[in-house]
Amino acid sequence: MPPVSRRRFLAGGGALALGLGLAPATVMAQRRPARRRRPGASDRAWRVLASSLDGRLLLPHDPGFVAIALPWNLAYAQQQPAAIALVESAFDVQRCVAWARGTGLPVAARSGGHSYGGYSTTPGLLIEMSRMRQITDHGDGSVTVEAGAPLGMVDAQLTARGIVLPAGRCASVGIAGLTLGGGFGFNSRKFGLTSDNLLKTEIVTADGELRPVDESTDPDLLWALKGGGGGTFGINTSFRFKVYEVDTVSVYSLSWDVADAVAAISTLQQVSLGSPDEFSLHIALDTNDVGPEPGAVNQSLQAVGQYLGSVDDLQDLLAPVLAAAAPTASTIEQMSLADGTAFLGEQGNPDAFLSKSAFLPVGLSDASIERLVELFDRFPSAARDGSVVLFGYGGVVNDVPPEATAYVHRSAGFMMEGNASWHPGDPPSVVEATRAWMQELWAVLATDFDGSAYQNFIDPTLEDWQQAYFGDNFERLVAVKTTVDPEDYFHNAQSIPVRSS
Ligand SMILES: Cc1cc2nc3c(=O)[nH]c(=O)nc-3n(C[C@H](O)[C@H](O)[C@H](O)COP(=O)(O)OP(=O)(O)OC[C@H]3O[C@@H](n4cnc5c(N)ncnc54)[C@H](O)[C@@H]3O)c2cc1C
Repeated sequence: MPPVSRRRFLAGGGALALGLGLAPATVMAQRRPARRRRPGASDRAWRVLASSLDGRLLLPHDPGFVAIALPWNLAYAQQQPAAIALVESAFDVQRCVAWARGTGLPVAARSGGHSYGGYSTTPGLLIEMSRMRQITDHGDGSVTVEAGAPLGMVDAQLTARGIVLPAGRCASVGIAGLTLGGGFGFNSRKFGLTSDNLLKTEIVTADGELRPVDESTDPDLLWALKGGGGGTFGINTSFRFKVYEVDTVSVYSLSWDVADAVAAISTLQQVSLGSPDEFSLHIALDTNDVGPEPGAVNQSLQAVGQYLGSVDDLQDLLAPVLAAAAPTASTIEQMSLADGTAFLGEQGNPDAFLSKSAFLPVGLSDASIERLVELFDRFPSAARDGSVVLFGYGGVVNDVPPEATAYVHRSAGFMMEGNASWHPGDPPSVVEATRAWMQELWAVLATDFDGSAYQNFIDPTLEDWQQAYFGDNFERLVAVKTTVDPEDYFHNAQSIPVRSS
């Protein structure tokens, strides 16, 4: 028999299954009681996979399985995987993909697990990346981050060295999901999206190969991975990014009584639209769930952000806002990069939720802000919790042509997110009232939206998601997908489809 190269070995998923001694399920059924079988693979096959990994394979009876299986959005907690591979190397990911294809089991990759739609869950093999979190500073203005690193870790390691990778706010969001769908945060107006700074990535494709992808090796796939979404083209194992040195950062946090919402939000929007790229803005209007019963809520209005410059210049920028509506609490301070990033960061808690997103050319009109406040005032007594967030958008993000990468949203002044959340034990009436409030709010504000939506705030209720997330880039994404994964092995409800022949 001729020697089989590792590449050919991995590419032949079915051959690998046989090589690993996987017995057909029917044969195993005669030998094992039915209750011990898991879908698609025999007990022996699972053992073979486990023994081939540098990391660990967890089966449902293993300690920790249930907690690790939970996604961030607990509305999708009922979807349990058949097993979880805690991978430790790109080779582990290759083995998992080749093995799972050989058995016919589906896979899903999980980096931070924050998919709003629960798309990093699967009835098959969950490939859990969180043990792959090495961060390497190359010292040439670029860093390589393994795909399981959470943003809090990336921020902490880089800001301690005086460097910034523009990314999101929540410490537990994974670098992989964030990058593949864009990645917007407090540094994006100055330095771009996370995906705009992607120089190179390594990805395991459905044939089991580990491919280095950059402008020279595969410009089409690199284009698609800059915003085409996670869970579609393969499993990325690492990302090399361009990073930036930052000297001075000033941060702010301002709170108001909700009665001042129109003046405060309207003036904040005007400031953001006219501000230099160094300024960032995040406005949150919240109901805060305060008791065991639904409907018991406090309201709050807060704006936070930073200015990559002196605190005096930040004071000048914010002066019109402070004049329009006096805050009930205010912090405006110059800090070290590390302290400023930690000041703006958030941890968050998993819950069950529905989120919606929209891009707004110029923000909310005063009439829309009034309608928004009114909807918060009549928050249903049967509902649990809701919020609306407005991000100041634009800057260099809008300097990139919409067709230059898969990420198409390059002209808005604001991005908005609506979030309706409930607790996993809440009765269906509470879930329904909370979701209905959010859907009504979205319909009421729609006149100010441009019709598109952010693929990283993935929304399973969105009908024309292809157009909303990807606009005119959708057809090119389908072409790349058809080339890279013609059998559509990497698949979720809103992943890019293959072209039907
Ligand atoms: C609390 C919270 C705060 C957020 N804040 C921001 C923010 O400030 N800015 C912003 O832009 N976004 C933000 N997001 C949205 C976030 O960017 C997306 O939810 C993102 O998809 C999460 O990535 P993840 O790796 O944590 O999620 P996961 O659920 O692990 O992955 C998301 C998708 O990518 C796939 N995937 C995971 N790992 C890989 C991999 N290695 N290779 C290929 N596919 C993979 C998954 O299968 C899934 O389809 C926030 C989300 C939450 C819940």
